[in-house]
Amino acid sequence: MAQIMIKNLRKDFGTFNAVKSSTFTVEDGEFFMLLGPSGCGKTTTLRMMAGLELPTSGEIYIDGEEVGMKPASQRDIAFVFQMFALYPHMNVGKNISYPLISQGMPRAQVKKKVGEVAEILGITDILNRPVGGLSGGDRQRVALGRAIVRDPKAFFMDEPLGALDAEFRERMSEELRALHDRMGATTVYVTHDQLEAMQMGDKIVVMNHGVVEQFGRPQQIYDWPSTMFVASFLGSPSMNFLNFDGILGNNQSSVEMQGVEFDIPASLEGAGGKLAFGVRPEHVHFADSSAYKGEVLATEYLGTTQIVTVATPNGNLKARTSASHAIRVGERLGLEFDPRTITIFNTETGKALL
Ligand code: ATP
Repeated sequence: MAQIMIKNLRKDFGTFNAVKSSTFTVEDGEFFMLLGPSGCGKTTTLRMMAGLELPTSGEIYIDGEEVGMKPASQRDIAFVFQMFALYPHMNVGKNISYPLISQGMPRAQVKKKVGEVAEILGITDILNRPVGGLSGGDRQRVALGRAIVRDPKAFFMDEPLGALDAEFRERMSEELRALHDRMGATTVYVTHDQLEAMQMGDKIVVMNHGVVEQFGRPQQIYDWPSTMFVASFLGSPSMNFLNFDGILGNNQSSVEMQGVEFDIPASLEGAGGKLAFGVRPEHVHFADSSAYKGEVLATEYLGTTQIVTVATPNGNLKARTSASHAIRVGERLGLEFDPRTITIFNTETGKALL
């Protein structure tokens, strides 16, 4: 197990700056997600952490030791790639034991270790089967077995479930998380899927254009995004932004839009100019008594809930509400916003004021 600290990590490919001065810490035993859109630099960050890519500058500490310039083989870590490559001419047991045998571990010890790993993964009964005829799930378990068997300090995974269909992907992600909870090994996992990151991660780093936008617990960054990018990358549908011009004082506990006062959490840093009122779809409520009105543009039925698109004087928004609530396109409705997680942004800097 290991704590991994990243300090001012940077990577240039020629003149292109792929990762810009990143700083964050993965605590011992955490399941840690590197999340962001394609090309944001998450794979490059992971590869530097694992020793597969050299940093241009900055430091990487594993358990306090600076390893930035050390190759992967000297970091005592296991890297699990997206394509789980197995040795096709070996059976399951041989595939798992291969890393131990190549390290020169005595046979009896190898057998014991492989038995333990097979038990953890629930594949004891297929140890003698050739890997050729295995189901996709069993192939993944064997590949994981090969990574686990060495007892590495940390696991690094780059979109390991990326190639799977949705149903199987969900099952494997549950298995991976359960496996982590049993073993407690530090795991750093790259994904572009915000739902996967929130479901599986203890902590998430959100990256964009090579920059760490925010890092924290899933609920913390979902409820309190520090930038408009994070607010819109997490959540589906994403956070609404209602645009307004205003001057806000420090610790102001409400804001005014169209002459209507809306409560906000009162820890605001004062600011003026072009602002956005950020509200999650599940925190928009319909109330006849509200003087703040909008017109329903569309409804999208999702089973137990529906997504209602409403035109307001400050821009369109989406509300998530019960599907049993009868709402017609063209209807004018009063809107209220649950103040608990309202976030105000400066639209010029993209940063939250809270
Ligand atoms: P994806 O999910 O698409 O892999 P990512 O967030 O993991 O995206 P990276 O693979 O880290 O992104 O790439 C970040 C940027 O660096 C991209 O613009 C990519 O084209 C560039 N890049 C990555 N590796 C190299 C390389 N070896 N040489 C030049 N540019 C590279």
